Amino acid sequence: MSNPKHNSAPFLLSELLTLFTEKTFDRKQVNTNIHSLWRYEAYLPIAATDAVSFGEGFTPLLPLEMDGKTVFIKQEQLFPTGSYKDRGASVLISLAKNEGALQVVQDSSGNAGCAIAAYAARAGIGCEIYVPAETSQAKLAQIRSYGAKLVLVEGTREETAAAALKRSEKLYYASHCYHPGFYQGTKTFAYEVCEQLNWQTPDTIVLPVGNGTLIIGCYLGFYHLLKSNIITKMPKIIGVQAANCAPLHHAFIHQYKTISHFEAKPTIAEGIAIASPVQGSLILEIINASKGSIITVEEHEIINALKQCAKMGFYIEPTSAATIAGLNKCLTKVHRDDICVSLFSGHGLKSTEKILSILNN
Ligand SMILES: *Cc1c(COP(=O)(O)O)cnc(C)c1O
Repeated sequence: MSNPKHNSAPFLLSELLTLFTEKTFDRKQVNTNIHSLWRYEAYLPIAATDAVSFGEGFTPLLPLEMDGKTVFIKQEQLFPTGSYKDRGASVLISLAKNEGALQVVQDSSGNAGCAIAAYAARAGIGCEIYVPAETSQAKLAQIRSYGAKLVLVEGTREETAAAALKRSEKLYYASHCYHPGFYQGTKTFAYEVCEQLNWQTPDTIVLPVGNGTLIIGCYLGFYHLLKSNIITKMPKIIGVQAANCAPLHHAFIHQYKTISHFEAKPTIAEGIAIASPVQGSLILEIINASKGSIITVEEHEIINALKQCAKMGFYIEPTSAATIAGLNKCLTKVHRDDICVSLFSGHGLKSTEKILSILNN
């Protein structure tokens, strides 16, 4: 899977779906001796023995009672760097290492930078991460600790991306948005959910959506399982955005095929504060293909969901709480017997300052 140094073209759905789905998924090919996402090595672009890995993935899928219904919540905050981004980072950096990359560059609003920096450190590869100047201190500390060179960009998330793209003329571009390897990693979310449900088909999946790296990967995984007759239908995919930054929701309700300019306001859900998602058209196509939708949540709903989860003993970051706020809204429409799956996407320890300010208010 080659990654041109300077790759910044959005994917077409047809391109993405042909990558590694030509082999029929066979349950007997799951390597159950491996207790990580690498158990699906038969369907990944690289063998487990060549992987740059911390033994990540196969996170618990916990049934929780919410609003009188049972919902399955995948514990993606339990990854080595504290967010599900490790799925993509593990596969992407494994490929970069095997392609002989000595140094990678990436841009991020936080967690993707933490993940790429950690896996680069594990691989012994140099790393530069470009972030917007106002990113959470905890995430900046984490990136720097791994030994990555941190470049703070004054300006928007989009200006940060432009600066990294320029740098990628010289270095391997380990972009979670553009590198196809990242989606090969995030697709394992779908494999794991189905295996942990004893290969039943979920009816509804509620996911966060900023750049859409999880939603796209998830669709890819379910598409592969459906094509291989492992599941019987495509689950309905519901994407959750913060109302203050909801370009995909705006396009979805107007039935646009592409993203138009969205006047974004700040949101506590910093991990999904993406005003112009580069794979926007692809995400809209996926949501429609799954007969799902994109919903929004207000800031106070995010804060209430964060408190609700903490009361149950789950310490998650505000971005994760946005998904749960969205789940709360969906549950009124979900049938009692439906299998509904969602996740905690990032750990609370990432956002100490924001959580303190919520508690002190
Ligand atoms: C990245 C991230 C998201 C959103 O994922 P996208 O790929 O941008 O859609 C949600 N929650 C957390 C904690 C994240 O780090």
